[in-house]
Amino acid sequence: MEKNCLFCRIFKGEIKAEVLYRDEEIMAFKDVNPKAPNHALVIPAKHIETINEVSVGDSLLVGKMVAAASAVAASLNMKSYRLVFNCGPDAGQEVFHIHLHLLGGRKFGWPPG
Ligand code: AMP
Ligand code: ZN
Repeated sequence: MEKNCLFCRIFKGEIKAEVLYRDEEIMAFKDVNPKAPNHALVIPAKHIETINEVSVGDSLLVGKMVAAASAVAASLNMKSYRLVFNCGPDAGQEVFHIHLHLLGGRKFGWPPG
């Protein structure tokens, strides 16, 4: 837990979010500024700044994040969607606590902008 981290504070319930899933290790909530009709974020309770700091020991945790994203997608009736980790400023990362974007409800271009 980092005192001034937005997503640590959301996990602790200090900042409100529209929760779609939660357990002891993982939480999913609606993105406050959605980039698609359905846009959720999946975060771990563990504070990890970027994907660069993920270790092999975090494999199960990251796997659980993907499984949670898939479960949330199913609960929103989404069969086609995009999962994204932005890593670092050039990739568009603004919140430095890892989060998996779940985006759906429209068609996406490839390659991404
Ligand atoms: P990124 O740019 O990959 O770091 O993604 C950060 C995401 O967090 C953005 O899509 C923001 O819209 C979203 N966001 C920022 N503040 C909040 C908040 N308080 N509740 C929900 N989503 C947020
Ligand atoms: Zn954090």
